[in-house]
Amino acid sequence: MQKLIAAIALAFLSQPAFAEEAPKWSIAIHGGAGTLDPDTMTPERRAEYEAALQVALDAGAKVLAEGGSAMDAVKAAIIPMEDSPLFNAGRGAVFTWDGTNELDSSIMDGRDRSAGAVAGVKTVRNPILLADTVRTQSEHVMLMGAGAEAFAAEKGFAVTPPEYFATPARAEALERMKARKLSALDVDHKFGTVGAVALDQNGNLAAGTSTGGMTGKRWGRVGDAPVIGAGTYADNRACAVSATGWGEYFLRVGVAHEICARLRATNEAKAAMAEGDETAKPVERDEAQYIADAVMADVKSLGGDGGVILVTPEGHAIFSFNTTGMYRGRATSAGVSEVAIFGGEATASVTTDH
Ligand code: ASP
Repeated sequence: MQKLIAAIALAFLSQPAFAEEAPKWSIAIHGGAGTLDPDTMTPERRAEYEAALQVALDAGAKVLAEGGSAMDAVKAAIIPMEDSPLFNAGRGAVFTWDGTNELDSSIMDGRDRSAGAVAGVKTVRNPILLADTVRTQSEHVMLMGAGAEAFAAEKGFAVTPPEYFATPARAEALERMKARKLSALDVDHKFGTVGAVALDQNGNLAAGTSTGGMTGKRWGRVGDAPVIGAGTYADNRACAVSATGWGEYFLRVGVAHEICARLRATNEAKAAMAEGDETAKPVERDEAQYIADAVMADVKSLGGDGGVILVTPEGHAIFSFNTTGMYRGRATSAGVSEVAIFGGEATASVTTDH
């Protein structure tokens, strides 16, 4: 017993008097929002989604825990979801009216607000990587269709055959939509776009989003996912946001930029009013949640639905959705690592992450 007490005392004394705070990191991911009901999803299906979300979350968290950049973490998390047929991005993308799969993606670095995006690409396995190449190796922000594919070829991307992206479940959804004259929302009841937002140990933020769009889209329709400011935005002064939902409404509200702008304005107002008060804090978790909820309420007031994920410079990983569920997950340096699907589950109610 005495030995034990001595060992505990030694362990305690060997700690530095003022342990330095470990650098923070944080990541949140989504795999789409929508009408998700635990009573209509089989336990097997639920386990499949949770496992796929965990793989993506772990891939991103590993990058951050090892000191990698937020940009690399966002790509690491999105790639497995683009590769999984479960989500509406990359393989498993929804079908256009003409029976093709057309992919949209965007990515943004909060450090310098550099951004890249592609729309309507058909032969690039991981559109998030092409979006990032537009960001780093072109003087443009957004490329579309055949031009984006020519750029991909020039930068050494392999041409992936269109059949790779097509899955029977998505083909059936298009058939059902046509047969019953349904809208994209009636046929799916959910959005399967994928996205990730991250804060790295150096305090940099990044956001990325990737999607096949909406079932039965026509005439070269492009939603919010590849549009910087609508589906994706990152600014180190505010937050990083990725959205999923009925893209037309997210475009009209400019959701991702709107959330960042409100957060930045709140930060600036707090700093100005604090005037040297050292106890003054930047935007706190509940304030960021309030801002995200307010913007999502605005989307709803126009008739749109969906959700967002965001990470703040303080490492708060936040979800907001006005649907019954959202495939989602978050992990932080404080030891949080969780995935969830339905409203009311862990991540919807947990109020601390750091
Ligand atoms: N936001 C996407 C779009 O409108 C769809 C989704 O979130 O699944 O293209």
